[in-house]
Amino acid sequence: MKILLNNTSLIESLRPFNDLGFVPTMGGIHKGHLSLINKSNKFCKKTIVSIFINPKQFNNKRDLKSYPRNIKKDLKILKKSKKVDFVYLPKFNDIYQNKKKPKIKLIKKDKILCAKFRKGHFEGVLDVMNRLTKIVNPRKIFMGEKDFQQLYLVKKLLEKNYKTKVIPCKTIRDNNKVALSSRNYLLNKYNLATAANVFKKLQNIKKKITNNKNISNFLRFEKNKLRNNYKIKIDYLELRNINNLKPSNKKKNSRLFIAYYLNNVRLIDNI
Ligand code: AMP
Repeated sequence: MKILLNNTSLIESLRPFNDLGFVPTMGGIHKGHLSLINKSNKFCKKTIVSIFINPKQFNNKRDLKSYPRNIKKDLKILKKSKKVDFVYLPKFNDIYQNKKKPKIKLIKKDKILCAKFRKGHFEGVLDVMNRLTKIVNPRKIFMGEKDFQQLYLVKKLLEKNYKTKVIPCKTIRDNNKVALSSRNYLLNKYNLATAANVFKKLQNIKKKITNNKNISNFLRFEKNKLRNNYKIKIDYLELRNINNLKPSNKKKNSRLFIAYYLNNVRLIDNI
């Protein structure tokens, strides 16, 4: 596993390879990241993982400050997996040396779910993914369905502008079905127990959806119940079509999306 600390060494090391699988991360490596790496390893000749906490996608300074960082541990896990050929650890200037202002703007119909509650977040994500794709030039990028809206927006942008394919990967969960996330490192065991209960409720809510229901009233009611039962702040609980993320009123081709806070940590999930 070769560690690439800047763009010069990246360009030099990647030159011989044209079948690259890329797994972009912000570190805090867990089994969710490893599942993306495994898939890349299966489908591509070489796998490169990046670890870069992109300040431009954080709409909240406190969130950026508290974001889990443990590069030593991350490198140890990645090395042990034996599935990673390159780890790219860029500095801010490696990514943003091209100072051209990003032209990336969300269209109105995409300003939903997290885009509505985290102003500027996806503009930051799309900008960094555009820059990373230009620098790494991978054949495939592996991204998790846990961050479904991110996957949807990045896939739409990159596949329009590059030959790179964005490959969706299933959400990996812990034993209590809580979606793995680097932010879970910031939760205590009570928070994690609540997250497990919220997941169970989500499953129940999805089960109760029938095609003849007034879905938005039903979800508003269930959202209030969740909020009161678990004393959590909920940004949204919405059923949306998986192909275009439009509001949906039937279970087929739809997912139930939630964003909520535990211990001031914002968690997202979709089922
Ligand atoms: P992050 O480090 O949180 O920015 O995530 C890097 C990549 O890993 C993104 O494509 C995420 O969607 C993906 N990812 C994060 N958590 C999970 C999970 N529990 N299961 C599958 N993929 C995940």
